[in-house]
Amino acid sequence: MIEGVKQQKWWGWGEEGKAYSHHDKPKFAPFVKRIVGVDINVSKTSVPPFSSLDVPATQLTDELRTKLEGIVGATYAQTDDETRVVHAFGKGVRDLVRVRRGELGRVPDVVVYPGDEDEVVALVNAAVEDDFVLIPFGGGSNIVAATEAVPGEPRNVVVANLGRMKSLLEIDEISGMARIQAGVFGPDMEDQLQARGWTMGHQPDSFVWSTLGGWIATRSSGMQSDKYGDISDIVRGLRMVMPGQVLTLRPLPSTSSGPSVREMVLGSEGRLGIITEAWVQVHRIPEQRELQAYFFATYADGLKACEQIAASDANVILARVSDPLETQYIMANGKASGRVGKLANKAIQKLMERKGWDLDGICMSFVGFEGSANHVRYHKGLVSKIIKANNGMGVGKGPGSLYDQKKYDTPYIRDFMLDHGLVADVSETTTPWAHALEIHTNTVAAAHKALEERGVRGVVFCHLSHSYHSGACQYFTFAIADDSEDNLVSYDAVKRAIQQSFMDNHGTVSHHHGVGEEHSPWLDQDISPAGVHMQRTLFEGIDPGNNLNPGKII
Ligand code: FAD
Repeated sequence: MIEGVKQQKWWGWGEEGKAYSHHDKPKFAPFVKRIVGVDINVSKTSVPPFSSLDVPATQLTDELRTKLEGIVGATYAQTDDETRVVHAFGKGVRDLVRVRRGELGRVPDVVVYPGDEDEVVALVNAAVEDDFVLIPFGGGSNIVAATEAVPGEPRNVVVANLGRMKSLLEIDEISGMARIQAGVFGPDMEDQLQARGWTMGHQPDSFVWSTLGGWIATRSSGMQSDKYGDISDIVRGLRMVMPGQVLTLRPLPSTSSGPSVREMVLGSEGRLGIITEAWVQVHRIPEQRELQAYFFATYADGLKACEQIAASDANVILARVSDPLETQYIMANGKASGRVGKLANKAIQKLMERKGWDLDGICMSFVGFEGSANHVRYHKGLVSKIIKANNGMGVGKGPGSLYDQKKYDTPYIRDFMLDHGLVADVSETTTPWAHALEIHTNTVAAAHKALEERGVRGVVFCHLSHSYHSGACQYFTFAIADDSEDNLVSYDAVKRAIQQSFMDNHGTVSHHHGVGEEHSPWLDQDISPAGVHMQRTLFEGIDPGNNLNPGKII
C-alpha cells in the first residue's frame, strides 16, 4: 500500500475491520428468513486467507519496469500480489464472488501511482509507444467490470491509480466553481471544500470509497441530485490526458461549440484517456438540512407524489420512495426502538389502520430540504400539500436523520449476505414518468420469473431515487438465495432479466453505474446500432492501438 492512498479490502467493500452486523437489529433475521428462507445466524462461507489465493505472477517485462519506474519512481510502481489483486476488480457481486473463490482473471502486472499530470502524460504516451494496456483506477467501486483487464490480455497490463492526485487546487468564489484533482475520494474532497465554506453536494452511496475522476468517467449520480445535479451537471471543465495530447476544457456555464466534447468525456470509462482534474460547481454550505419521512398507502401513490414534486415549485434536494418490500426491509434493518419509539410506531400504525391501509403495502419515503429556515419551512409546506393530495402522511424527521447517519454503511451488507449464502446486487434505470409504474411492475415480475426458472428463492425490491422534469431513476436491489457453485449462473439469469426488462419498458441500460463489460450487451438496444457506431468511431479515433482500458462500453 502507498502511504496516503486509501485502498479497499481485497475481498469486499471498504476498510478492513469494518463490517455489517444484524445483532442490534432484532427484526432483521426473521425478515430474511421469511422472505428468502435463509437463516443469517448461520454462516455458509467465509473469506479465505489471502495466502490461499493462487495469484498469477506479474508478467511485467524488465524493460517496462525500468521505464515505469523512471516515470513515477520505484516506490510508486507496485507489483506485490495484494496490490495487484485489489486493482484487478471492481465491487460488483460477480467480482466479490470470484475473488473469494480465487478466480482472479487477468490480474494487472503492475500498479503505478502518478503524482502529477506530467507523469500521467508520460504513462499514456508510453502505453502507446510500448503497446501496453493502461487502466485508470479511482476507488475501484464500480459494479460493472469497468476496471478489469480483458481475460487473456497478452500485453502488459498497467493500472494507474490516481490516489496521489487529490488536492483542491483553487476556488473561483465569484462563479461558485472549484478546480480539484481527479484522484480525490469523496470525504477528503468535502473536507477540503468545507474547510473553506463550500460543498459540492455530490453524495453517491459509494461516496467514501469513490473518486472525482471515477464519478466523471462513469457519469455518476448522488442522492442529492435533485438539487445539485448529476456529475454531468456539476462538472463544468476538465483536463484529460489522451495519446499524444492533453484535452483542456475551460470552465464554462454553457457553450455551443459543436457536439459537446465535455459530454464525450463524461462516461468514457477510461477509454479516451485519464482525467487529471476538473472544474466543478460548488455551493455555500446550507444553513439547515432536513430529511422528512412520509408513508404512502401504495407505491403508485408515492410515485405520483414524486412526479408532482418534480413538476411543482418545491425545491427539494432529494425525493425517494421505496416499494412495499423495500419498506419492510428498511424497517426490519433498523435498531430496536426504545419505549418512546415503540409507542410512536404503534400510534402511526393505528393511524394507518384507521385510514384503511394494508400495512403490508405501505411505502416509506424521504424528502430532503436545504437552505435558510424560512426556505426549508416554505418548501416543506409545498411538499406537504402534495403528499396529502396523494394519500400520504408525514412522520417527522426521526427516520430521515437515522438514514442520513447510516447511509454510507449500507454497502457493507453485500459481503455479509455472501457469507450467508445470498448473492445480492443492484440494477438501476430511468424512464419517463409515463412508464415509471409499469417498469417497476414488469421488472419485479421478470426477476421473479427468472428466479422460478432457476428454481431458487430470492427477492427484488426497489425505490425511486432521483427525479427529473421528465422522469425518474428507479433502483432495484435483488438477492438470490443460492450458495451453490453455480450461484453466478443464478445471478446472471436474474440480472439479465432485469436489464432486458429495462429495455422492454422504456428504460435505459443504467442511470448512473455506467456500462463497463456488465451492461455492454444491451448497448445497441439502448442507443441503437448507429449510436454504438458513433461511440466505436470515437474510441478508435482517439485510441487506435486499443491501449486505454480496452473492452469497456463496447
Ligand atoms: P473506479 O471504479 O476506480 O473506476 C470506474 C471507471 O472509471 C473505470 O472505467 C475507470 O477506468 C474509470 N476511471 C476512474 N478514474 C478515472 C480517471 N481519473 N480518468 C479516467 N477514467 C477514470 N454510483 C453512483 O453514481 N451513485 C451511487 O449512489 C453509487 N452507489 C454505489 C454503491 C455501492 C455499494 C457500489 C459498490 C457502487 C456504487 N456506485 C454508485 C458505483 C460506483 O461507486 C461509481 O461508478 C463511481 O463513480 C466509481 O468511482 P471510482 O472512483 O470508484 O471509479
